[in-house]
Amino acid sequence: MTNSFVNSIIPLFYPTEGEIEEALLVLGMSLSNVTCAYCGDTASEWDHLRPLVKNKRPTGYVSEIANLVPACGKCNQSKGGSYWRDWMLGSAVRSPRTREVPDLETRVQKLVAYESWREPRRVDFENLAGEELWAKHWRNHSRLLELMFECQQTAEEIRLVVKAASSSEPVRDVEVAPLLREGHATRPTAYSPKKAGAVDKREAIRRAGLHANLIVANTHFANINVAKDVWWLDIPLGKVTSGDQHELELLLYDARSDDLHHLRIPTAYLRSNLAALNVRQDKKCVHLELKADDPHRFRNVVPISSGVDFAQFEQEPS
Ligand SMILES: [Zn+2]
Repeated sequence: MTNSFVNSIIPLFYPTEGEIEEALLVLGMSLSNVTCAYCGDTASEWDHLRPLVKNKRPTGYVSEIANLVPACGKCNQSKGGSYWRDWMLGSAVRSPRTREVPDLETRVQKLVAYESWREPRRVDFENLAGEELWAKHWRNHSRLLELMFECQQTAEEIRLVVKAASSSEPVRDVEVAPLLREGHATRPTAYSPKKAGAVDKREAIRRAGLHANLIVANTHFANINVAKDVWWLDIPLGKVTSGDQHELELLLYDARSDDLHHLRIPTAYLRSNLAALNVRQDKKCVHLELKADDPHRFRNVVPISSGVDFAQFEQEPS
């Protein structure tokens, strides 16, 4: 959502065929042989070498040949908004280094040459748009976010009421009542005071965006434990063992970097690894402690021999 607010204001400068040919030449390619500049796979798209968006605001770079390289979908998705070189040589999921792409150093050198081939345009959006227009754009953005949040909560409220009313089983107060109560408030600020550097579950769901399809009832949320650099979560054992629910949604907020991670974990995966997880029979829950840093981010670390990894279930950010 926020990205589309930024992307929609970024101009595109179409390159001429000559410019494309010249660009490919710098990368050691030709029009008849275009491959991913990062890994060498078949190219399916053009990727912005320098990200257009950072911290939800335009970086000033635009869509133009000096800032575009051919890429494959795997690389484009994995790279996200990272600086290309750190990402290529880093341990991100599906980064060229992680995928053990051969001749990595040569590829890096070609991209270094590409960077110095042409000075990219750098635009001061705020200044050019003018204070008023710029403020209006971001006011629109906040209004839309608020409205989306409200739509989501209203829908959840209706769904829960309808489900409770049409359920053949007697409604159990303990399960339904708290959800309904939560569903009534429409502003994140209506919830318990937050610790500095922490967000609450509603704020996290709002930030994850509407496309993540998260609601309070299906989401487990944790702020990072900054003393131990882990996320702690207690998942009700019934949710894991009953098989009624196919997936669990985890939202993990890292206050150190302001990153929000979304993991969608099949309950079958938890069931098949139950012996290696910390099942607390007294609290009827599965207690997870997930590592917040590389290497092995999202690995369960208690018990220490657990070795159960959840990184493969991370969802793409919006
Ligand atoms: Zn690639």
